[in-house]
Amino acid sequence: MSTTNAVTVADVPAGLTRDDKFYRTDGNLVLRAENTLFRVHRSVLTEMSSVIADTLQLPQPEHSSDKEGESDARPVKLPGDTAQQFRSLMWALYSRPDEVKKYLETSDLESRCCRLLDLVAITHKYDCPDLMNWALDLASGCCKTIDKPSTNLVTALIHMYRLGLLGFVDWAEPAVRRGSLADVSLIRLASASTWTSIESFAYYRIVCRGPSCWSALGVNSSENLRLLRGYVNLSETWTLIAGRVPPIEHVCGGSPGVHATGPCPTACITVWDEICRNPKVVKLGVLNKDSTVDIQGRLAAAAGLVEHAFAVAPRTIIYTQSYGTNRPSPPDTGISGWHGIMCRAAFRDSVNAYAARSEKMIQRCAAALLQHLLHSIIASRSPSPCKE
Ligand SMILES: [Zn+2]
Repeated sequence: MSTTNAVTVADVPAGLTRDDKFYRTDGNLVLRAENTLFRVHRSVLTEMSSVIADTLQLPQPEHSSDKEGESDARPVKLPGDTAQQFRSLMWALYSRPDEVKKYLETSDLESRCCRLLDLVAITHKYDCPDLMNWALDLASGCCKTIDKPSTNLVTALIHMYRLGLLGFVDWAEPAVRRGSLADVSLIRLASASTWTSIESFAYYRIVCRGPSCWSALGVNSSENLRLLRGYVNLSETWTLIAGRVPPIEHVCGGSPGVHATGPCPTACITVWDEICRNPKVVKLGVLNKDSTVDIQGRLAAAAGLVEHAFAVAPRTIIYTQSYGTNRPSPPDTGISGWHGIMCRAAFRDSVNAYAARSEKMIQRCAAALLQHLLHSIIASRSPSPCKE
């Protein structure tokens, strides 16, 4: 809309400002969000939301000559709403369809997403489900395409977690994880919103940087203690993982488990040990001496080695006759013990499944790191740290 505020600002109470766009001279209701005054049409708001309509119908003090909402001196206060949220709501209510279309097509992705999230938050509060779902649908589309969401956007998303919106976590969590909000801030915000998977994700990232980096991040003493516990937990967990071959469904007749019998199960144990010592796994993040705790990274590297070996030599080659000195040597798979494994697909699947479950494993460590030292629990636990 092209109408702008042309009214003198002489009467504006100290400390307040009139909104540039939504302080309308022909409006009949003055509202205040934070330190910004809005002047809009009462009917536009009451038709939109019964929650607002009820608020505006609250009885006025009898002795008051100046009714609430009729002047800058006595605006209707909007507790809990930010000026930006209310401005976004007014934008949605006052813009023509062609203006909305143009905005959605031409605006900066990041600011568009923030506006739509503001709109989701405020329409949720004022119980306008249709408008909220419209904004939510567009916001999720925007979020999915932003490579590295800004700190503002991530903050808005974390606040929104508390609303418990259907399907929200599915698209918002990847965006928060990709975002540029510093990990310590992420921990504190996620903790306040009780978004535990994000909290443990941020803890994990800090833990992986190693204790020498923590003080520079400005963590407080209780956070430091949690990080230290997590560090110990994850270090212990890696030792446990490296010491036990992932459970394999043998089709060769060999028995699985720690007390494996038969050449294939024995080879699996040897190969897993070799993989867990492979430089690509243990020297992950060469510059980071604390990478021992990056279980996710290490298991992903292990899965990568196995994938490569499987691609080079998917099946066991059985030599039925001696070739003497001309006998071909087996192809180099990068894992010297690989040729001893007969159940290769099962081994690969098992390592992949292990890597895929590492996120849950870390969350358990993170949950434990908030309470106990994991290694004290491990002693009495099931044989595999991955076991659900
Ligand atoms: Zn086997």
